[in-house]
Amino acid sequence: MDNYYVTIGLEVHCQLLTTTKMFCRCKTDYFGKAPNTLVCPVCLGLPGSLPVLNEQALRLAILTAQALNCRILPRVVFHRKNYFYPDLPKGYQISQYDLPIGVEGKIEFDFKGNREAVRIKRVHAEEDAGKLVHEGLNLPFGCSGVDFNRCGIPLVEIVTEPDLHSPEEARECLVMLRNVVRYIGVSDGNMEEGSLRCDANVSVSPSPEKMGTKVEVKNMNSFRSVFRALRYEVDRQVELLEKGESLYQETRHWDEARGITLSARGKEEAEDYRYFPDPDLLPITLEDSFLKEIKAAISELPLTRKERLMIEHELPENEANILVQDKTLADFFEEALKEFNQPRLLCNWMLTEVLKNLNEAGIDITESKVSPQQLAELLRMIDKGEISGTIAKGVLEEMFTTGLDAREIVSKKGISLISNEKELEKVVLEVVEKNPQSVADYLSGKEKALHFLIGQVMKETKGQANPEIVKDILLKKLASEE
Ligand SMILES: [Zn+2]
Repeated sequence: MDNYYVTIGLEVHCQLLTTTKMFCRCKTDYFGKAPNTLVCPVCLGLPGSLPVLNEQALRLAILTAQALNCRILPRVVFHRKNYFYPDLPKGYQISQYDLPIGVEGKIEFDFKGNREAVRIKRVHAEEDAGKLVHEGLNLPFGCSGVDFNRCGIPLVEIVTEPDLHSPEEARECLVMLRNVVRYIGVSDGNMEEGSLRCDANVSVSPSPEKMGTKVEVKNMNSFRSVFRALRYEVDRQVELLEKGESLYQETRHWDEARGITLSARGKEEAEDYRYFPDPDLLPITLEDSFLKEIKAAISELPLTRKERLMIEHELPENEANILVQDKTLADFFEEALKEFNQPRLLCNWMLTEVLKNLNEAGIDITESKVSPQQLAELLRMIDKGEISGTIAKGVLEEMFTTGLDAREIVSKKGISLISNEKELEKVVLEVVEKNPQSVADYLSGKEKALHFLIGQVMKETKGQANPEIVKDILLKKLASEE
């Protein structure tokens, strides 16, 4: 395995966040809709219908190319990519060929402590095809249906150069691509729902000078399956080469359930598609002012944000990384920080308790009933010693289910931190009497016994005691026992 050089390139399709399709006015929110309810003569390719370009789709495709540091070509030309498939009623897909939106870009990400840069070969815009449906819909046995709702959905295709050298690295690159399209708001990048799809070219070779035979792997529906499929494919190719067999250029499908790739067909070349400029769509010349206006919308990208969080708020790299993986999570953090300026503590709570509650509810932060301001208030209450951390965890849980403020929950339940020393002394005395062994242990120098005793007091007071005060009283009491 170590004697082989792995080369991987990615081809990613992202569904653009427009409200209508690329060349007609049909709506794009097809997910979960009844088949063939979002169609019209244009996206069904009926004779005599003419496409009209959706300006927003063009803007989002340009924005993607700009965010990936591409050189933007001044002329936009759409080509017809001809092929026959039942989900493509026109018999061709409107795509781009020799003049994509952007070329020669770059995407950077951190991998195993290094900053990696992968070249972007091209970014182009195209329309999606429909979908074959093989089950459900009361189809007669052995029959498949066609759902044209997805026909004409605007896509941006991002093609990287083969600069990746392991399945892990390819996955990291894909995660960063997903984060970039989310940060700039061009796509929701949801792999499970198919709004982000990834194909990969994989080859292995015994020599770094010469690339091996390229095999294309398709049909990977999650980051995990991208990783598994690439790992499987690398192993398969190495095994064949070891046996002295040769590989041939082909397209293989990932079978998630069986964990293997299967040969689908020989690989087509561009000339098989008989590309030609679409006579229904005139070329568009992009003005500088138009490009500048689009570029102005690029907000801070994930890597820059991570570095800023590390410098401005002294967050450790790992934590900063988890926050910026999800733009909405990082936004939440920075909102809460405005009202509770202890970044480390806040980050800690976000990455443990907040994420735990979100996971349990199966929602993401945008669906949370707890606002950044409410979280900040809860943390302020701990900071002021009004409630203990243990109590706060329970309060946060309730905030997640009810949406109430921490203060409301605390007063409704009559929770307050017992700071009254007289009251605590009584409990401490009881605990000391009940645990003579631990007391003796502590007196003979076992520090751990002290934690145990504090824990017992916290238990007796149902977590409502102020642990700092408990410790003080306990130490005084133990000193008098000596
Ligand atoms: Zn339509």
